Amino acid sequence: MIVYDLLCDRAHRFEAWFGSASDYDDQQARGLLECPLCASKSIGKAVMAPAVPAKSNQKTSSHSLANDDPLARLLQLQRQFEAQSDYVGDRFAQEARAIHESGVARSVHGEASAEEVKSLREDGVPLLPLPFRPRARSDA
Ligand SMILES: [Zn+2]
Repeated sequence: MIVYDLLCDRAHRFEAWFGSASDYDDQQARGLLECPLCASKSIGKAVMAPAVPAKSNQKTSSHSLANDDPLARLLQLQRQFEAQSDYVGDRFAQEARAIHESGVARSVHGEASAEEVKSLREDGVPLLPLPFRPRARSDA
């Protein structure tokens, strides 16, 4: 059995089970697939992607003055980032690992030693170095 995330032309998303991948192709070709919500027969496989809040899909004013200045741009980026991410200071390694293990999407930033970073990377925890220092520091 194989499960697919399907999407109708009215953007209803639903799961459907098939005996095999060719089963899906067969049913699709014969027009047997139907949206359980609106009975639409225009069904396709949904693209697998993490849910993105509608707000972040909106284009931020890309022609503002700030964007002409690399420093202002970085600052803007930092503000955006800090609004979406929790500062956890030197508990970063601990928090990042806990989030990774729980599977809950949450963003944190903080300080970690080179050794902690190495160990997190080895455990497959996704990490990014920041192009700036967080403003709030645990030892400030
Ligand atoms: Zn539908």
